[in-house]
Amino acid sequence: MKLFEYEAKDIFAKYGIPVPKGVICETPDEVVSAFYNLKKNVVLKAQVLVGGRGKAGAIKFPKTSSEASDMAKSLFDMEIKGERVEKVYVEQALSIEKEYYLGIITDTDTSSPLLIFASEGGMEIELLAKEKPEVIKKVVINPLLGLMSYNIRFILKESNLSSEYHQQIINIALNLYSIYWEMDGELIEINPLVLTKDGDLFAADAKLNIDNNALFRHPELPKREIKTVEDKAAKLGLSYVLLDGNIGIISNGAGLTMATMDHLNLAGGKPANFLDAGERILRDGVKDGMNIILENPNVDAILINIFAGGPRCDVIAEKIVQTIDEMEESKSLNVPVVVTLHGRYMEEGRKILSKCKSPHLYQELEIEDAVKKVIELGGKSK
Ligand code: GDP
Ligand code: MN
Repeated sequence: MKLFEYEAKDIFAKYGIPVPKGVICETPDEVVSAFYNLKKNVVLKAQVLVGGRGKAGAIKFPKTSSEASDMAKSLFDMEIKGERVEKVYVEQALSIEKEYYLGIITDTDTSSPLLIFASEGGMEIELLAKEKPEVIKKVVINPLLGLMSYNIRFILKESNLSSEYHQQIINIALNLYSIYWEMDGELIEINPLVLTKDGDLFAADAKLNIDNNALFRHPELPKREIKTVEDKAAKLGLSYVLLDGNIGIISNGAGLTMATMDHLNLAGGKPANFLDAGERILRDGVKDGMNIILENPNVDAILINIFAGGPRCDVIAEKIVQTIDEMEESKSLNVPVVVTLHGRYMEEGRKILSKCKSPHLYQELEIEDAVKKVIELGGKSK
């Protein structure tokens, strides 16, 4: 889950990372009073969960109260990369001497936290990596030890950064790591980390993404409206990952789901998603799974591959038939569904499927035949 800049900065401040003074506003009038309260030296920042606000014109520097009012109105009317602006953060403006980048991500290659520092900040890190890779320094953090000052000292030396600022940056990095670790962060970023003309360092921007699987450990965090299909699926207890093929897959267990994708790939098909319904397959896992999969317009056919170790195939077969009946009734099913069942009460389950008269349902006894069938019915991925 992504936090808004103002929410992340609130946490930064609690952990001792210097952030400019700010007021969160929901109307242009509130922006104007914040303009006065912050001594008429402010920056207005649209609060959205996407980056690149600077470039999108969503960061503004009013000089007068009427400018503050006009700029606030235009910000509240904005939509940035599909996201409506509902709040504007009014912050004391900084006089910037230099911008840096400081961030920590969970690195999938090493399964460890990775500290990243760049002696040039402001630009999005992906872009910076393309244009000036030489200014980006990285160090893998041993998760058992945590971030050590020497890790960051080493990077700062390599970056030829004046030693005058080393201690301030080290303190910020250590606090940043504490947040990342204690809040179950996936990514935490200060971009830009600003050196002011007075020689102080401030987090001018703040990004904090929390691992969704750890949200239950943070009841203090705001509850967000579910937006993406992945979020919707997670809320239903399904593990769903969107992929770029045209065959929707429902399986039970992560291992079997991955093996099903491998079979499909080997036969020349392309999965549209990964969907592990787990033990939910016994309850509404098939129905919820089909609904989630069909939100993807690229899906031309669905493959359901089940191994019932504990659960029973006959119960699952009934769920599948019932779901297909209901969807046909409501005319919400217009792709073929190929099913393979193995495990307990397999014969009974298979009988239930073969009795079903639906023109959408196909049964194959082995996965090798099922993948061929679903590719034949669904056609090649576009
Ligand atoms: P982003 O574009 O969504 O990442 O938004 P940022 O908060 O990073 O702001 C973009 C740019 O606006 C920064 O890189 C700075 O150059 C500039 N900026 C942000 N806050 C201030 C400020 O207080 N004073 C000044 N002069 N520039 C700022
Ligand atoms: Mn930024």
